[in-house]
Amino acid sequence: MSDEIRSVRGFHDILGNDLKKFRRITNVVRRILKLYNFEEIILPVVEYAELFQRSIGEVTDIVQKEMFTFQDKKGRWLALRPEGTAGTVRAYIQHRMYAERPYRKLFYEGPMFRYERPQAGRYRQFHQIGAEIFGVGDPEADFEIIEIVYKILKELNITVVIEINSLGCLKCRPAYREELVTFLNEVEENLCEVCKERKDKNPLRVLDCKVETCRETFKSSPKVIDYLCEECKEHFERLQSFLNSSDIPYRINPSLVRGLDYYSRTVFEAVSDDLSTTIIAGGRYDYLVEQLGGPPTPATGFAVGIERTALLLPDVEEDVESYIVIPFGEVKEYAMKVADILRSKGYTVEFSYRRGGLRKQLEYADKMGFRYAVIIGEDEMKEGKVTLKDMREGVQVTKNIEEL
Ligand code: ATP
Ligand code: MG
Repeated sequence: MSDEIRSVRGFHDILGNDLKKFRRITNVVRRILKLYNFEEIILPVVEYAELFQRSIGEVTDIVQKEMFTFQDKKGRWLALRPEGTAGTVRAYIQHRMYAERPYRKLFYEGPMFRYERPQAGRYRQFHQIGAEIFGVGDPEADFEIIEIVYKILKELNITVVIEINSLGCLKCRPAYREELVTFLNEVEENLCEVCKERKDKNPLRVLDCKVETCRETFKSSPKVIDYLCEECKEHFERLQSFLNSSDIPYRINPSLVRGLDYYSRTVFEAVSDDLSTTIIAGGRYDYLVEQLGGPPTPATGFAVGIERTALLLPDVEEDVESYIVIPFGEVKEYAMKVADILRSKGYTVEFSYRRGGLRKQLEYADKMGFRYAVIIGEDEMKEGKVTLKDMREGVQVTKNIEEL
């Protein structure tokens, strides 16, 4: 045998039970998004690196440390997309979708790439399914987004708390930023090297640092919700009033800032209490469309981390009524026909390629979880019949093929 080639670190095959969970999640999300009239868009995996630098922000973990970038043969910098919002916004602008209707609801699904240290729930290729509402600045759109996220998790039987915060707008954030910089300068010696460097370039990003000593230090930092302007305050209060009149459990987390620069006003995360990790996150980004060359267009959205969500799902037990057709003797043509009659009725049918006696074949059928074994010998063929064994109940009957 030659040398075995293995998959690249952080890049995984998804199969078996993991795949069942994966599909269960995407099916639930798709069904719920359909209820809200979202349209799907399939986006390219590769974009110009500049798209992410200009949207996610130069001074962020994703752009500084986690992006897979490379040059094409003409020397242009491309990137494997690390998330889906930037590409959706790019497409929204490129196809002039803003000119077609006052607002638009889109969703995407697919692989995302980040050069992170692989561990449970953290991979270099992972998958997201996410949705965006363009053209609505009102808090009801933020509420709908959070409501969708909550419905998804409820249907999947995953208990979470939704944490919300407001990051303010271009009017109120500068004053907060100034206060924050003053604070960060005062506590500078307690900060990690990355934070020390970031505090002048992108002070808000500092608050997203995961280093324990930094987190401890930030407990006493000024909080952005104390600096909101009247409009932002009202927006945040109206969102809470929608939430209060629903059954969605939420709490305000004044330290929640998210790892991407494009957010404004509402940000939120669905945090599992048992794993204490984020599985779904999102928020409002009212300036991004304009920043990427479109007309001023408010927007809000979320993204589900599929693998991360799958970690919280129990194994999926599927009870498929599948058949295995087992031929004995010179009956293959007849047996194949029987298999196809069953398929034409919508059943899942496997034609057994195994050789060996009846007992061995039935053992195999049982082990593989088939519900029915369809046994066909020369006698059955002569009479136009099959022997049908119910593997679960253990009973066996003979049937005419018309009765199948
Ligand atoms: P984290 O704080 O865990 O790094 P993030 O803030 O970088 O998350 P987002 O960019 O908001 O994550 O992405 C939304 C969701 O995508 C996350 O909540 C998570 O479920 C999932 N996700 C992000 N990065 C990865 C990864 N490397 N592997 C698997 N899932 C991921
Ligand atoms: Mg991250």
